[in-house]
Amino acid sequence: MPAPGELTFVTPRGAKKPPRHLADLTPEERRAAVAELGEKPFRAKQLSQHYFARYADDPAAWTDIPAAARGKLAGDLLPELMSVVRHISCDDDTTRKTLWRLFDGTLVESVLMRYPDRVTMCISSQAGCGMNCPFCATGQAGLTRNLSTAEIVHQIVAGMRSLRDEEIPGGPARLSNIVFMGMGEPLANYKRVIGSIRRLTDPEPDGLGLSQRGITVSTVGLVPAMLRFADEGLKCRLAVSLHAPDDELRDTLVPVNTRWKVREVLDAAWHYADVSGRRISIEYALIKDINDQAWRADLLGRLLKGRRVHVNLIPLNPTPGSKWTASRPEDERAFVAALESHGVPVTVRDTRGQEIDGACGQLAASEG
Ligand code: SAH
Repeated sequence: MPAPGELTFVTPRGAKKPPRHLADLTPEERRAAVAELGEKPFRAKQLSQHYFARYADDPAAWTDIPAAARGKLAGDLLPELMSVVRHISCDDDTTRKTLWRLFDGTLVESVLMRYPDRVTMCISSQAGCGMNCPFCATGQAGLTRNLSTAEIVHQIVAGMRSLRDEEIPGGPARLSNIVFMGMGEPLANYKRVIGSIRRLTDPEPDGLGLSQRGITVSTVGLVPAMLRFADEGLKCRLAVSLHAPDDELRDTLVPVNTRWKVREVLDAAWHYADVSGRRISIEYALIKDINDQAWRADLLGRLLKGRRVHVNLIPLNPTPGSKWTASRPEDERAFVAALESHGVPVTVRDTRGQEIDGACGQLAASEG
């Protein structure tokens, strides 16, 4: 027991691990875990069915499992991982941000966005982020810790349950897209993020049965991890947060660029495109008078020309106290036109959720 007043969970290094959960385990590991509890291995499949196909983590609903065994199985394999601190909605309640409290008090956020033709969830892979990009709210606070595989997966399970239960207006719906664009750098939490992708995409009841093609992993450009990601044989989309076409500026906007340069990052991205057959998304936050000049648009166009690529321009969401702001409309239009003149497909990202601080780069969970 900690002494009174002692802080048990504050430092990432000394922190306790999140409890083990079914969603951390492969189907085989689940059978072994169930057997260790003295239960028949087929109970693993029953539990998986409840969690991954019915989103039912309340043992009272597991009527195919003897009541006496439920408590033990739930306690060991389906512990409560997180609780909702609050939901905040906007856009007629079709955008909903959820603030979660994890077992150790850590706060993370996820955002669900319903469109007429699809539903996207933006999820967190870390509490905080260590990449330190100066325009990003999460980057300001530093890294608290990696999320476990199950902590990543559960954000989605909870979202799918709310959609099914019609908590989001518009009738029952299925989740179609998942973007690792909430808090954290997914490729800095590599093993757990890959584990979560397996759980999300394994067919029911081993996993949630979602399509790999609907999942986007967004990275600042951790080159070795990008190359490793290409070897996983996944069909996910890879998004690269470029934000500048030249190393001089990118060194300041995405500090990890001092380690892996624009050219290396793009080469790793093209490798992923070749292996996966998927177009690369290039994320570019347009920041007034910082990275939106005509010459930078032209340089970006030349770097991307002829590649399997799509550019997402994101009007900067200024973070509190930021000296930066979004580009002027005429500069944004000129930037788009310059890319198009090189034949590079480009869209300007809509900025849903801005008024609930749920938009790109604003997830900071500061308010606990
Ligand atoms: N760490 C990953 C994923 C999280 S951020 C990454 O950097 O890719 C998701 C996207 O939002 C990234 O492209 C990020 O650069 C962008 N972003 C961060 N802060 C932003 C802001 N204030 N305005 C617009 N986009 C921002």
